[in-house]
Amino acid sequence: MEARTTTKTCTLIGPDGKPYTSATPGMLGGHRGLKGYGRLNCPSAPRWIAKGHYVAHRVFFADEATALTAGYRPCAVCLPERYRTWKRARERAREQARRRIVPNTIGRTGETTNQQAQAEYFRGMHHRPCVTVRA
Ligand SMILES: [Zn+2]
Repeated sequence: MEARTTTKTCTLIGPDGKPYTSATPGMLGGHRGLKGYGRLNCPSAPRWIAKGHYVAHRVFFADEATALTAGYRPCAVCLPERYRTWKRARERAREQARRRIVPNTIGRTGETTNQQAQAEYFRGMHHRPCVTVRA
């Protein structure tokens, strides 16, 4: 490390949804309340910031895989393609969950659905050569 480099730490959200300190800034921004993530230059972000809500709830992710694992969904504005993929996967997962209702898992259905949606989403991404997921 250069002595002249100012030490700047960034707080990012990890796959477990908990914040951690990182030396490198996040590649994606998110909203804690809306549970959404998007590009840092997302056109919907300035609108939120103008309303004064956004900054306090702003979170950052190192990459897309982390955001998804933490339970955030892609932004419909700046990531429309991925949002559609995610939405389709979620609908499919919900449909599957409806078809097999196990009484003891009622409280956990939401969690299962999210995991299934995520699995579906990553399967979809696997066929898109332009998507790079890096840790
Ligand atoms: Zn966006």
